[in-house]
Amino acid sequence: MKTDILSLTPEELQDEITVTGGQKFRAEQIFNWLHVKKTTNFSEMSNLSEQFRQKLTAYFCIKPLIIRKKLVSEYDYTVKYLYGLNDGENIETVLMKYRHGASLCISTQAGCKMNCAFCASGAYGFKRNLKPSEMLGQLYETERDSGIDVKSIVLMGIGEPLDNFGNTVKFLRLLSDKSGRNMSLRHVSLSTCGLSDRIDELAKLKLGLTLSVSLHAADDKTRSRLMPVNDVFNIDRLMASCRNYFKETGRRISFEYALIKGLNDSFEAADRLVKLIKPLGAHVNLITVNPTLKNTHHASGNAKVFYERLTSSGINATIRRTLGADINAACGQLRGQEN
Ligand code: SF4
Repeated sequence: MKTDILSLTPEELQDEITVTGGQKFRAEQIFNWLHVKKTTNFSEMSNLSEQFRQKLTAYFCIKPLIIRKKLVSEYDYTVKYLYGLNDGENIETVLMKYRHGASLCISTQAGCKMNCAFCASGAYGFKRNLKPSEMLGQLYETERDSGIDVKSIVLMGIGEPLDNFGNTVKFLRLLSDKSGRNMSLRHVSLSTCGLSDRIDELAKLKLGLTLSVSLHAADDKTRSRLMPVNDVFNIDRLMASCRNYFKETGRRISFEYALIKGLNDSFEAADRLVKLIKPLGAHVNLITVNPTLKNTHHASGNAKVFYERLTSSGINATIRRTLGADINAACGQLRGQEN
C-alpha cells in the first residue's frame, strides 16, 4: 500500500524520502509543494528530476479526497462541499464567509458515535476516523476550488474530534507548521460534546486553540436526554475538566447552547446556566436548533429573552447567526450523504 504523504510531519517525510533514495533536503521542497503550493500531482514539482518524481508517484499517494457535490446557499453564499474519500466514504465541509474573513467547518470522522438527539451526523452510524491528510485535504481542496484564503477553522463538522484524538492533534500540528500552511492555532476552535478525559489530555498539550463545549443544558437530566455522552461524563465531571483546561491554557472556553422550545429555554434554565459557568468567565454561543430528518425538537422563540437573562447576569453571550440553512449546512445538519 502506498504511503499517505500529506499526513507526514516534516521529520517523518525526511525519513521516508531517504528510504526512496532521495536526499534529505528534498523533503523540505516536497513539504513546501504539498502544504504551501497545495500541489496534488508529483508531476508539477518542477524542481525535482523526472526520475525522482516517478519514484515518488510509485511510493506515495497524494490526493486524499475529491469534490463529489457542491451547494451554494442563496441566502448568504455559504458553500457546502460533499467530499468523497479514497475508500468511497463521504464527508462534508462548509465554507462560511464573514466580514472578517472566511471560516471553514471541517469534519474529523466519517459518521459519529455520539448520537446527540438534535444532530444528523450520527444518523448513518460511525464509519471511521479521518486521517490528518483528509482533514488538511478539506482545507486545501476548498481553498483551491474557491480561490479563497481561509482565515479560521472550526472542528465542528461531522464527528467528535476528541474521539479521533491522535489524528486531530497531528492535523493541528501540520496545519500550524511554520514551513507549511502556518495557521496560528489561535484561529482554530475545536468543538467537543464533552469527552472529559480527552479534554484533560488536550489541556496538557497547551496548543492555544479555543475549546468549544456543546453543553445545551445545565442539569444532568435534560443534558442526558439530548446527549448520551452525559451518562459517561456528567456535568460535574465536565466542569472539572473545563476548569482544568482554563487553568492550564489560560484560554477562555466557549459553551454552545442550542435553544429548544420547552426543554432548555426557560428563565430557570438560564439561571442554572449562569450559576454553572459564571466562575469560569466563559462565553455562551446561543444557537437555534436546526431541522433535521431525525430531529423532533423545535426551535425556541425565546432566544432574545434568554440572551438578555444571561447578559444581565454578567455572562458574555452571543446569538449565533444561522448560515446555509437552505442547503442543510447549518449546525447539526451535516450527514455526509449525497441526497
Ligand atoms: S453534535 Fe457532534 S458529537 Fe454529537 S452526534 Fe453530532 S457530530 Fe457527533
